[in-house]
Amino acid sequence: MVRVPQSDDEFGAPLAAAARISGAWLEGMPSRPIVPVTGIEAVKDRLGRELPRTGSDAVDVVEALARAVEPGLMAMQSARFFGWVIGGTAPAALAADWLVSAWDQNSALREVTPGVNAAEELAGEWICELLGLPATTVAGFTTGATTANLVALAAARHAVLERAGWDDAELGIQGAPPVRVIAGDEHHPSVDVALRVLGLGRPRDVASDAEGRVVPAALEAALADGEGPAIVCLQAGNIHSGASDPFEACVAVAHAAGAWVHVDGAFGLWAAASPALRHLVAGVELADSWTTDAHKTLNVPYDAGVVAVAEPAHLVAAMTMHAAYLPAASTGVDANDRVLELSRRARGVPTYAALCTLGRDGVARLVDGLVEAAQAIAAGLRVMPGVEVLNEVCFTQVCAAFDGRDVAEIARALDADGAALAHHSRWRDRDVLRFSVSNRSTDAAAVEAALAAVHRVLGA
Ligand SMILES: *Cc1c(COP(=O)(O)O)cnc(C)c1O
Repeated sequence: MVRVPQSDDEFGAPLAAAARISGAWLEGMPSRPIVPVTGIEAVKDRLGRELPRTGSDAVDVVEALARAVEPGLMAMQSARFFGWVIGGTAPAALAADWLVSAWDQNSALREVTPGVNAAEELAGEWICELLGLPATTVAGFTTGATTANLVALAAARHAVLERAGWDDAELGIQGAPPVRVIAGDEHHPSVDVALRVLGLGRPRDVASDAEGRVVPAALEAALADGEGPAIVCLQAGNIHSGASDPFEACVAVAHAAGAWVHVDGAFGLWAAASPALRHLVAGVELADSWTTDAHKTLNVPYDAGVVAVAEPAHLVAAMTMHAAYLPAASTGVDANDRVLELSRRARGVPTYAALCTLGRDGVARLVDGLVEAAQAIAAGLRVMPGVEVLNEVCFTQVCAAFDGRDVAEIARALDADGAALAHHSRWRDRDVLRFSVSNRSTDAAAVEAALAAVHRVLGA
C-alpha cells in the first residue's frame, strides 16, 4: 500500500506558509508595480522545466513556487488597476475560498454535502433578491459569466424548441426548427462562444445607440423579419460605456414575438443592487434568464460566475444528469442540475461570505462607490487638454479619446509609468483608453494617482 510520509504537522506548516505569503502579497499591493516584471519563459526557467524525479517537502514547494511565480504576477488587485473588468479581493471571501479547498467537498448533490450546498443555495437566493429577480428564479454557480451564458442559453434553446414541439434533449438540434438568435451589435464575445458551442451559430446583430444600448425598434424589426423559435440576448453593462439595454421596451417586443430573453449582466446587473442605480436596469427582472459574476463587481476571488433562470424546469431539463449511483435530491434542485459540472468545488461559498460581510447596504455602497470613482476619473480626464470622455459614465466604465494621439502608445507609456493601468480599445470606430473601476479598494487617492499618471504620460 502506498503511504504518503506524514508528519505531525502535515497541513499546518504548508498552510501557514501559504497564509504568510498571501498576506505579504495582498498587503504589498499599494507599492507593487502593476505589470509583471518577468515574462512566461523566464518564470518557467525559475520554476524548473524538468519534472523532478524525487519529491520535495511541502513547505519548500510552496515557498519556491511563490518565489518563482511572483515576478510574473500582475497586480490585478491594485486600487489603480483599471484593465478589463477585474474585481478585487474581499477578505472574508478569500478566507472562505481557502475553507472550500480545505473541506474539499464534491458538492454536486445537496443531500450528500449539505454543509456547503446550504451556503451556496443561500448565496444564490440572496443574489436573486438583491438583483430583484423573480421569486421563482433558481441560481447556480459557474466558473464565470462565459459558462453562465452557455448554461442559460442551453436552457433557452430547450425552452424555445419545446414550445415549437421539438425535444432537443432527445433529438438534438439537427433537423430541429431553426432557432433565431438576436443580440445587440455590442454584445460580449462570450455570448458568441456559448452560441457556437450550442450549435446555434452567430447571432443576428441589431443596432444599438450611441451608448451601445439596443434600439427597441431595431429589435422589433429583426423579430418581425422571420418566424419560429427565437432567443434574444440583451446586456446589462456594456464593457465600453457601462450602459444597459432598455429592458422594459426590449423584453416587451421580444416576449410579444414569443422569444426567450437572456441578459448578460456580468458586471452591470449589480446596478440593480443599488437603490440609486437601479433605474439603469429597470425592467431587467422581466427577462427569462440572467448571467452575472461575483468575481467582478462583488470582489469575490475567481472563479465565481452565476446563472439564474426564472423557470427552473428549463434549466434542469438542459443540465440534469442522474444515474443509479447519483440519487436525485428528494427536494430542491441539485447543484449538478443547475450547472455543467458534476465534480465541482463549492464555488458559491465565498460569495456567501462576501454577502455576509457587506450586507444589503454594503453591496449598494460598494456598487455606488465604484461608480463614484469612475465619475471622478471621467471628471479628471475631461479637464485635460485634448482629452474627450466618449461615454456618459452612468456606471463603472470610462472611455477616453485623445485628440491626434496614438492611444496604444499612451497605454504602453502608462504601463511603463507603473502607477496605474488602463487598456487601449476601440469603441464606435474610435481608439480609446478604457478604465473599468471594479475594485473595492479604489478610493479618492487611487483616482488621483491614476489621473496624475495619465497627466505625466500626456506631458511626456
Ligand atoms: C467579463 C464579461 C463576460 C465574461 O465573463 P467571465 O467571467 O470572464 O467568463 C461576459 N459578459 C460581459 C458583459 C463581461 O463583462
